[in-house]
Amino acid sequence: MKRRTLLTAGSLGLGAALAACGAPQGVKSGEDSGNSPASPAVLRKKTRTLRMVTSWPKNFPGLGTAAEEISQNIGILSGGTLAVKLYAAGELVPAHEEFDAVSSGAADMYHASEYYWVGKSKGFAFFTAVPFGMTAVEQLGWVDHGGGRALWDKLSARFNLIAFPAGSTGHQMGGWFKKEINTLDDLKGLIMRIPGFGGDVMRELGVSPKLLAGGAIYQALQSGAIDATEWVGPWNDLAFGFYREAPYYYGPGFHEPGSTVSLGFNLEVWNSLTSQEQMAVKGSCGWTMSSSLAQYSWQNAKALKTLRDEYGVEVRNFSDEIWKALGVATRKVLAEVGQSDPETRAILDSYMTALSEASAWAQVSDGPYLRLRALAGF
Ligand code: CA
Repeated sequence: MKRRTLLTAGSLGLGAALAACGAPQGVKSGEDSGNSPASPAVLRKKTRTLRMVTSWPKNFPGLGTAAEEISQNIGILSGGTLAVKLYAAGELVPAHEEFDAVSSGAADMYHASEYYWVGKSKGFAFFTAVPFGMTAVEQLGWVDHGGGRALWDKLSARFNLIAFPAGSTGHQMGGWFKKEINTLDDLKGLIMRIPGFGGDVMRELGVSPKLLAGGAIYQALQSGAIDATEWVGPWNDLAFGFYREAPYYYGPGFHEPGSTVSLGFNLEVWNSLTSQEQMAVKGSCGWTMSSSLAQYSWQNAKALKTLRDEYGVEVRNFSDEIWKALGVATRKVLAEVGQSDPETRAILDSYMTALSEASAWAQVSDGPYLRLRALAGF
């Protein structure tokens, strides 16, 4: 009975919402939809189809499937007033050109990573991941509770966009190397596929960073065009078979401690949605945020076991000397980022304050717990 009451209330809410935007309302009735010319027009809700462009190959495990999940859930949670047509990378616009497509209205929304847009503003990187930055959950805390949301809205609105967290790879790995990396000298002169601020940090240590799309990495390793690559984590890395060409696997990654992917909306399209439709979008993004974190956590653990047990891959850590040098280089790179413009500076300042508080908590909670759990043999 309680459930029925809730459903009825929900339907009424939808009717009110539809009335508010001038859409026809009412319910389809078998008795009423007869032949009489006086009977009301057939009261079927109209479905509006939105086009979503993504940065991922079709059904790409983890991220492509997350975009698919969001599309389906928006249709369901909107009560059928919205449907989403999904375009894989390259189908409607080339990969990483989703920003301009959605900003201009050529598409309605994107599923991608905000750090692909650093050419528009370096401030976008802070809503995906930055070197030595927050983990996925810490970053959600900053966005939802620590002022990140307002800064993100203001930045996106300048480009006629609004964006929401809509998936996460969790912690990424340091990458695959053709040779063992013991000292800072071992890094000098290497050509490594590593994008974004992480690549800028590596450059400070004498590495030549290169940006290659996922599908081009294996071939580049095989031909010797690159000496090392980072990609995501064990699950996505295993699928590409990097262990065959670059057997030294380093973890954890300093550069992407919890990469958030986003759903970006054309702001005019967003503002034209009813409140139920907006909630359907936000609810679908939130659902996928947690389901994708869970999926990456689970699948990375399984893939790590496969890499170790079946392919003899040994996970190594960079030396403390390398970690400290990466930290120094990161401070330099972030200081330069802060000089870009006042808006980026404000985002950096807000982010660094949140990071310092989150880090103080992690150092008495997750940090020691994970170390001590292993010490106790679990
Ligand atoms: Ca990566």
